[in-house]
Amino acid sequence: MVSLPGMDAPPSIRETGAPRLLILGGTAEARELAAALQARGTFAVSLSLAGRTRNPLPQSAPTRSGGFGGVDGLEAHLRAERIDALVDATHPFAATMSHHAHEAARRAGVPLLALQRREWQRQPGDIWREAATIPEAVEKLGPAPRRVLVALGRNEVRALEAAPQHACLVRSIDPVEPPLAVPQARYIEARGPFAEADEHALLTAHRIDAILSKNSGGEATYGKIAAARALGIEVIMVARPARPEVETVDSVDGVLEWLERLPHHSSPARRGV
Ligand code: NAP
Repeated sequence: MVSLPGMDAPPSIRETGAPRLLILGGTAEARELAAALQARGTFAVSLSLAGRTRNPLPQSAPTRSGGFGGVDGLEAHLRAERIDALVDATHPFAATMSHHAHEAARRAGVPLLALQRREWQRQPGDIWREAATIPEAVEKLGPAPRRVLVALGRNEVRALEAAPQHACLVRSIDPVEPPLAVPQARYIEARGPFAEADEHALLTAHRIDAILSKNSGGEATYGKIAAARALGIEVIMVARPARPEVETVDSVDGVLEWLERLPHHSSPARRGV
């Protein structure tokens, strides 16, 4: 585990004995939530990142980085840090972390809420084909060579090596290293949000005829979906993985309301039970 600057809670919060909230992050929503709670000052907030991105955006709450070491590690963290409430604001495709959060919170007796942005819904004019997994999405591109915008995480793009006939335009926040073992691939390093007009220009300039996308939801990366609709480009849309059944809201305001409803007693993790 690597500590990022500002990891320690401000003394004023520690002294007031404010309830302690851990946010599992890695999303814009987690950042917004942390900022909103810091501004209110009613919770001692800490934010946890997986540590995958080389240069994570600055956060307004104390932040830790790196895995906990599975369910046992997260449970131990909840107890050691005397966490009173846990918010799973990880990305909809970070299903492993969500399952760990569910189990660790249950064991430690810590109330858990999931913050999940809504899925994108197919609109009139969209040309979507659904896939359950990324390998299935690659398969659905078909045998004929295509020009594909690959909008997947850099650890997921390797699935394209199974279909070397396609010309890939791979966009990721950090570089894809080593490059894909395919004859035709170009790389763009960029972090959203991406405006629809810019996506329209990108798709046109590279003569893209298919997009590989996860159904992430949210505004920041929807521009390519809207631009694809306008240009009549097919989107192979990867469906979300199954997540544990947890009380879920789809907005920062929903989390704030949930926190207000929380009983004002310490969790078993805080009491050291
Ligand atoms: P994942 O498969 O669900 O999690 C794999 C492991 O990474 C977890 O078991 C955990 O390690 C660690 N981890 C994940 N999120 C963490 C967090 N917030 N704090 C501390 N450890 C965390 O996750 P993933 O799909 O690789 O995503 C990694 C992170 O990137 C997530 O935080 C997610 O919000 C963010 N993200 C993911 C995507 C995506 O498409 N998957 C897109 C944008 C952002 P331990 O078992 O050791 O605790």
